[in-house]
Amino acid sequence: MNRRTVFRNSLLVAAGLAVGAGAVEIPRMWPQAHLPLAGGYAPAADRFDYDVRGNTTVTWHVQTTEPVVAFTFDDGPGPKWTSQVLDALDDYQVPATFFLVGQNVAAHGDLLRGRLDRHEVGNHTWSHPDLATMDAPTVQRQLTRAHETIHAVTGRDARLLRPPYGHIAGSTLMVADKVGYNVVLWSRQMDEARYRKNPPGQAADIIDNARPGQIILAHDVGDPKRWVAISQLGAMFAGLRQRGFRFVTVSELLAMGQPVVDSR
Ligand SMILES: [Zn+2]
Repeated sequence: MNRRTVFRNSLLVAAGLAVGAGAVEIPRMWPQAHLPLAGGYAPAADRFDYDVRGNTTVTWHVQTTEPVVAFTFDDGPGPKWTSQVLDALDDYQVPATFFLVGQNVAAHGDLLRGRLDRHEVGNHTWSHPDLATMDAPTVQRQLTRAHETIHAVTGRDARLLRPPYGHIAGSTLMVADKVGYNVVLWSRQMDEARYRKNPPGQAADIIDNARPGQIILAHDVGDPKRWVAISQLGAMFAGLRQRGFRFVTVSELLAMGQPVVDSR
């Protein structure tokens, strides 16, 4: 049995599946199976205070009848596109939420100076790792280092965490709780690869599929195809306004949320 087979079998055992001499295939739904499973919950028990607030929320969509959506921009700031994004937001007087990467704030914080008045800032970790592979103390260092850098550069105290890739383990939730953060994911996202040759299609997709309470994910840093969405921001803002939508920050959207009523 080679090392890879042992690892595969340990994953299957962890998942409660029967193991037959490596004959069972790992389901395709586990694309992260090659990553170390160091994250999660129990390993940090002796080094971490579990009993803090216990009320951190995870939100990807807000239940509201108000025609509002929240645009969010991840991974910045960066020299290539952050300024263009801020310009588009200024042109249409649209508030947005920037989930900032701490080391990018340290390197390019000048891009944000004097430009965040209408906007909210959130924490997207110090160096954009997969938090779901990390134990609680490591997650906490990622959050607090980013938090302190964001505060030093922007003067803001972030209160929302967007975990990179949307990956969450128990350690992420415990640390968010400990440092007074809530977790925010998204319910709609740009699909620049699909619309690479048809940027107006990306705008139409966002406009036509907008729903009250949506949290929309975009990026102001990344590979060249990001331009597909960034070049269409003005069209999106105009088209959504024409449909009667208004724009809010994520915290404003969270404050508008109604309890979910199960109508089944
Ligand atoms: Zn990211």
